[in-house]
Amino acid sequence: MTNDLLDFDRQHVWHPYTSTTSPLPVREVVSASGVRLKLADGRELVDGMSSWWAAVHGYNHPALNAAVTDQLSRMAHVMFGGLTHEPAVELCRKLVGLTPAPLTKVFLADSGSVAVEAAIKMAFQFWICRGRSEKNRLLTIRGGYHGDTFAAMSVCDPVNGMHEIFAGVLPRHHFVPRPRCRFDGDWDEADIAPMHEALERHHREIAAVILEPVVQGAGGMHFYHPMFLQRVRELCDAFDVLLIADEIATGFGRTGRLFACGHAGVSPDIMCLGKALTGGYMTLAATLATDRVAEGVCAGTPGVFMHGPTFMGNPLACAVANASLELLMENDWAAQVARIERSLAAGLAPCRNLSYVSDVRILGAIGVVELREPVRMAEIQTAFVAEGVWVRPFGRLVYVMPPYITEDQDLALLTTSLVRVVAGHRW
Ligand SMILES: *Cc1c(COP(=O)(O)O)cnc(C)c1O
Repeated sequence: MTNDLLDFDRQHVWHPYTSTTSPLPVREVVSASGVRLKLADGRELVDGMSSWWAAVHGYNHPALNAAVTDQLSRMAHVMFGGLTHEPAVELCRKLVGLTPAPLTKVFLADSGSVAVEAAIKMAFQFWICRGRSEKNRLLTIRGGYHGDTFAAMSVCDPVNGMHEIFAGVLPRHHFVPRPRCRFDGDWDEADIAPMHEALERHHREIAAVILEPVVQGAGGMHFYHPMFLQRVRELCDAFDVLLIADEIATGFGRTGRLFACGHAGVSPDIMCLGKALTGGYMTLAATLATDRVAEGVCAGTPGVFMHGPTFMGNPLACAVANASLELLMENDWAAQVARIERSLAAGLAPCRNLSYVSDVRILGAIGVVELREPVRMAEIQTAFVAEGVWVRPFGRLVYVMPPYITEDQDLALLTTSLVRVVAGHRW
């Protein structure tokens, strides 16, 4: 890219969560292959982010490339209203097979946020169709992140969820504190008390509990005790409230289970999937529902689920998702993730000795170093690039979730760089 184009980027292009008037530096990527991003200046960076949880098989994968080009030679897209095609049906069959048994119906959405919108709409429509339209509130835990569209924003953490300023225009839902029991700590029944109280008081107006199972992503990267999720499931049943599990970040093995709900052995009424669904190739997400939810939604008036994006079930995205799911199984994702977990645990352990590190936590192929102060973003990003790795912190969190195919020596480069950069950072 010429300097002219880079200049245009600075002046006219919005990047995620950035200003166009005082933009942060961006780096130009010219290609990516395996776990390496190649920059315009020739440097290669080992990717620690999987392009936000998505590129689990790495970049430029021959099998995924072939899936896209094969499909491209047939059709790039057709509308999904009144028409269907094999890539979409095959994908839905795979998703029904992989997810917990009660989830049988699949709605294909075009991004994670839209999958969350669809899930929330399903929950509301379910109760409206049963003559219970007063059940029009959601209940969630603090520390969550569910996307950037309006219904999704309304259940993000009110402070950390990046949408604080919109409080005045968002629907008001119920929040309880995030669970305190750590994933690997002891379970304390007191942890579920606020959720229990909230349901006892408000269940008549609550349509659904929505949460990220076990691992909260962009809202703070907290890992909580699976028993909490089990209790939530029990409470939802007891109080006649639906449970929506947002597995957009956690799905497809990232936490060491195929779905994070598996840590607690629970099955939600509605599940959202996205991010790693296409192996990071294209935007695609899915909302799955049980027979009970689907029948409830479709039983009343208008008798149909009121949602249908233009690019619903995009054949290219579905084809690459099918190939990605096949690769996941062929590559033995569980072994890959377990190997990464061991490597991250050993490699990030030295961070525990740094005075400005408040916590180090590892689960599956996710490693988080939590600091006492927010990092200086531009500075730390430059330090990581100088180390030859791509790690993008936010706030007080420096974290990695590498592609599952990352080899041991590249994992070692990631963790030693992370330790060095955090240790050398100017606070
Ligand atoms: C990323 C994410 C979303 C939003 O997905 P987009 O594809 O960015 O719209 C929703 N929920 C969770 C848990 C996520 O991590």
